[in-house]
Amino acid sequence: MSNNKPMPVATQISAPFWEGLKARRLLIQQCNACAHWNFYPRRHCPVCLEHDLAWREVDGAATLYSYTVTRIATLPDFMDEMPQKLAVVELAEGVRINTNLVGLEENEIEIGMSLQPVFAEVDAKGTRLLRFTGVDKDAAGLEPLPAQDSEPAPEQPPARQIDLNDGPALQSLVSEQYSDWSNVVVVDQALIDDFARLSGDDYWIHTDPEKARLQSPFGGTIAHGALVQVLQSRMKLALGFEISGFTTQINYGSDRLRFPAPVPAGSRIHSRARVKKVEILTRGTQLTLELNIHVVGQDRPSVINDLVILYMA
Ligand SMILES: [Zn+2]
Repeated sequence: MSNNKPMPVATQISAPFWEGLKARRLLIQQCNACAHWNFYPRRHCPVCLEHDLAWREVDGAATLYSYTVTRIATLPDFMDEMPQKLAVVELAEGVRINTNLVGLEENEIEIGMSLQPVFAEVDAKGTRLLRFTGVDKDAAGLEPLPAQDSEPAPEQPPARQIDLNDGPALQSLVSEQYSDWSNVVVVDQALIDDFARLSGDDYWIHTDPEKARLQSPFGGTIAHGALVQVLQSRMKLALGFEISGFTTQINYGSDRLRFPAPVPAGSRIHSRARVKKVEILTRGTQLTLELNIHVVGQDRPSVINDLVILYMA
């Protein structure tokens, strides 16, 4: 989950609503003069124009008024939430609220269905957004922030052992076929900021989400290509072989390094590889591994790296 999403900015008028959500309470304005319930928060009652509005806690019981499923992120930061179920729900008090449905499959969603509130935590500072789910769902289980850490690598079959002196076996590794995908790693803004500090490359296209949202062709910040490249170390590849019989293994560099597609902040990335070339040279045996890192779901790679590994007997 991205920590680079636009967060609510409370105004003097709306602050009680946002503070209420932080405390897992749903507060809605009601007019003391005519009893009309009011949402969004306003300065005066839209029915009788009185300014005498009170914040009252409601239980959030609601029905689904309308919804749509979006499959293309409106900002790159939301790619991890696709498909999003955007909805208008009607509280028992009669007000309608724009929100997201969570914890519901598309085939479970029906206009008029009963809903309950989910006080969804969206950052480490305790900011919560009001979302809704079905009344038969575990609303509390849908509240916490999704895990930020890498997902575990899938179980892999035992690797084929190949001796460095077995030239034909080494040559047989060369293939046009890529391996299975690695585990997934999240590239969030905190990681990009860390890399900016470490490398000294703090160009705004990487580090200034507000400016990037307005001015960058990518609609938000993107990770440094060099950062995405080194994150390969966090992605476990399922190559299906293991080479033995060497004393030293050296990263000899790269024959080709390209960054064909951007990695927006908040993206989930994974990688795959193939053995491109095996050369038996006097200094040792050189294996060229073509590593491709992709944003999950994207055909175009974000990194192509023809990595050269030198094995010395
Ligand atoms: Zn009123």
